[in-house]
Amino acid sequence: MKILDGKLVSSFILKKITGEVCQLSKKPKLTVIMVGEDPASLVYVRNKKRACEQVGILWEQISLDAKTTTTENLIKEIQRLNSDKQVNGILVQVPLPKHIYLPEVIKAINPYKDVDGFHAYNLGKTVLSMQFEDFAPCTPKGIIRLLEHYDIDVRGMDATVIGHSNIVGKPVSAMLLNRGATVTTCHIDTKDLKNHTNNADLIVVAVGKAGLLTADMVKKEVIVIDVGMNRINGNLIGDCDFEKISKKASYITPVPGGVGPMTVACLMENTLIAYKKQLNQ
Ligand code: NAD
Repeated sequence: MKILDGKLVSSFILKKITGEVCQLSKKPKLTVIMVGEDPASLVYVRNKKRACEQVGILWEQISLDAKTTTTENLIKEIQRLNSDKQVNGILVQVPLPKHIYLPEVIKAINPYKDVDGFHAYNLGKTVLSMQFEDFAPCTPKGIIRLLEHYDIDVRGMDATVIGHSNIVGKPVSAMLLNRGATVTTCHIDTKDLKNHTNNADLIVVAVGKAGLLTADMVKKEVIVIDVGMNRINGNLIGDCDFEKISKKASYITPVPGGVGPMTVACLMENTLIAYKKQLNQ
């Protein structure tokens, strides 16, 4: 069994970005909007800030009050950032408070500044083909980068993705399909999950339920990408039974240290791409 070491691979990506940013006289800038103080989001935002500081991308954080912020005034804030030439990337940290309508918020972001890749324009491009994945969402992009680093060619593989969210499950399914895998996407209404995991060569699990994927559900030599992040008794764990599955798997990502750091590295990459696109506009 080999660990797919996201911490290591992300450090290579960050190093490359640092080198590129270093050459730029005007630095790229990422603005993150946070509404409320969701504890997990605070940790993720802190990690993103750290990565920006590491690679030399300018960081701005706008913190809005959860109770008084409405969909309309959040959109106004986004429109202001859309027209601010100093801002290259806009990221709205999710989850948002329930009274804010996320689809309208995402729609308001200029697609050229949409570094999370959640806008319908960028998601649509991601589905089209590999050539149009420049603003693919960061987590799916990070998963693909990790597989590439370890020379894992998914062409012809049977891949099962568990989870069909717009930010992970659907785009990673599309990106695996773009690379020639035969993809099955499972979700909460899937009748018999094990039936779809048993013979899979590659499994991406992105649900948010600890212990969802167990060793009896996977075949020998399977490749497992665990996206899940669950806080159990103060520890961060994924969706799969790492201890038992790692004894059967050929490759597996740890949690923490797998997909998480790859996501942050790809956010830095997307911010640099946004900067370059805006220079050319
Ligand atoms: P989500 O809540 O939007 O989607 C969850 C998905 O799981 C849905 O498609 C749902 O249908 C499916 N699901 C729920 N119960 C299921 C079951 N019993 N069997 C099969 N499918 C089931 O979640 P998300 O935003 O895609 O995130 C998923 C997980 O990944 C969460 O733990 C989240 O914290 C984590 N995450 C990690 C990163 C990272 O960088 N490592 C990034 C994004 C999300």
